[in-house]
Amino acid sequence: MSGLEQLQYLSWLLYIVVFVLVLVRTIRRPTPAHVDMTLFFGVVATVIVSTTLTSKVRLNLAWVADVVTPSAAIALGYLLLRLVRDFAHVPRLVMLAVEVGMLASIAAVVLTPRPLSVELVLGLVVYLVLVIAYDAWAFTRHAWRTRGVTRRRMQAAASGSLCLDLVLVVAGVGVAVPSLPPAWNELGAALGLASGACYFVAFAPPTWLRRAWQEPEVVAFLTSVTSLARLPDIRDVVQELEHGAAAALGAPAARIALWHADTRRLQVFSDGKRVPLPYLPRAWLEQRATLVVSAAEQAPPDAALFDAHGARTVISAPITAYGKRLGLLSVYAPQAPVFANSDLELIQLLADQAAVALENRALIDEAAQVRAREEATRLKEDFLSSAAHDLKTPLTGIVTQAQVLRRRAERDPAAPPDRLGLDRLLEQSHRLKTLVLELLDVSRLEHGSLIGERQEVDLAALVRALIRQNATLWNRVHLHAEDPVLASVDVPRFEQVVSNLVENALKYSPHQAPVSVTIWREPGNARLSVRDEGIGIPSEDQALVFERFHRARNVDDRRFAGMGLGLYIARGIVEQHGGKIWVESAPGMGSTFQVAVPFVSRT
Ligand code: ADP
Repeated sequence: MSGLEQLQYLSWLLYIVVFVLVLVRTIRRPTPAHVDMTLFFGVVATVIVSTTLTSKVRLNLAWVADVVTPSAAIALGYLLLRLVRDFAHVPRLVMLAVEVGMLASIAAVVLTPRPLSVELVLGLVVYLVLVIAYDAWAFTRHAWRTRGVTRRRMQAAASGSLCLDLVLVVAGVGVAVPSLPPAWNELGAALGLASGACYFVAFAPPTWLRRAWQEPEVVAFLTSVTSLARLPDIRDVVQELEHGAAAALGAPAARIALWHADTRRLQVFSDGKRVPLPYLPRAWLEQRATLVVSAAEQAPPDAALFDAHGARTVISAPITAYGKRLGLLSVYAPQAPVFANSDLELIQLLADQAAVALENRALIDEAAQVRAREEATRLKEDFLSSAAHDLKTPLTGIVTQAQVLRRRAERDPAAPPDRLGLDRLLEQSHRLKTLVLELLDVSRLEHGSLIGERQEVDLAALVRALIRQNATLWNRVHLHAEDPVLASVDVPRFEQVVSNLVENALKYSPHQAPVSVTIWREPGNARLSVRDEGIGIPSEDQALVFERFHRARNVDDRRFAGMGLGLYIARGIVEQHGGKIWVESAPGMGSTFQVAVPFVSRT
């Protein structure tokens, strides 16, 4: 047997093996795509068998040589185009043109008397070369648009079509130029073998090859799973898992539906929101990986799944961790037949890994909740101990002072009242009252109910009246104001803010130093500032002084009484008015507290 014959037989054998493989698969699962594959390889097998019968075995079957072999060969281009259509979109017009061309070519072969003219044979070869070149181009284009295993299969299909086209070109040149050397025919046979090998891996890839092609994406998926749980939002985790699963299976998209135990529904993320699926897919109901092909044949739950994804093939697997049902992973493709039965094991593996990521995410969330609860308890305890500590000082003063006054009255009932002692008692009681009111305000603030009814007032007039009421204590406070500066405020609460800022300015500055309150307008806001020439606030403390119980590090507790709640309450009041409060200060250089609240014009 010559080398040429060996090559020919090898490629024939290959094509026949592929035909048998796809035939078995089609009998098991007769999807339209599998039928198309069987037709294509069946026709190739027909060409091979009929050629062998007529040329090698030399059976005298004229109708086989004249009709069957050429008609089958002409149909190849069209059948290959049907395979393209199973994976990607083919314009109707192209389909129609190829069908018409095929019928016309077959008619010409059947009706023309023998022998066929060289021109007709060449014309047929050109028709086939063009159709198969289009098929090769369409497979290449689809390879660019897909990824993973599907891309590799499309690349193989494109290479197979290119080789087949070259076989025809070589044969065509052989007809036109009969004097070519025998090596020319060997080239044709080698190309035939190559096209058979490419089609084999494209349309009937063995499981080991699929696995090898899928490996890079599967490894990338498995590697990312451990770090995914750290993403800030469960939506991001789900999205990354979907991307990874689609890439691993070489499909355009994937969806993860999460189980919601309260509503007993699967939910998917749509526009960032959780939307319940109106049905429970079969893979979920049966809790096993399922490959669903062709929407039309499906029972309602899976038909809905197809509609939802605009898909023709869906492969799904339940996501379960330690017996707990977490959700469902579905990978889908708008065109069959992207998936193989062997992908069921793979999707289950991916779903199990997705379960690890989702479970880790849930554990991280749970840990954060526990930490938040602990933090809340710690804050409550801090609050109680700080409050108790701060209340104790004035209360002890009151008790001691009252005891002194009582002893004095017992010793000498006729003695005149101790005015100084009574003043001290009053002062301590006043301090106690302020502290208790502050505590009440904190609790109201935290329930969001600090602000009552608002009214439109002139802030300049409001502050002027306050200064007048506290004339003795506020004797070094100076007001600079534009008249009128209108704002819509809860009057007693806004007075509380101003009093707090002014009292702090007086408390934290030397006894003679002036305190200035300035009120003015700026676009959209009424503005107020309270400036002192006191101890100032270190920059690290400037944002923190508005937090609960925070006192700046340059404040000596024994010299300046206080609980660190006044500014926290002031900020709450200002913010509930839609405004802002902040401080500009430097240690030893005084402080300026700034307030901005939305301005109201009279018009
Ligand atoms: P308190 O004055 O009762 O400690 P505040 O909440 O009113 O509580 O103030 C918090 C902290 O901000 C004070 O302890 C002090 O460290 C700092 N602070 C507030 N106002 C001034 C100011 N005018 N000058 C310097 N430090 C101030």
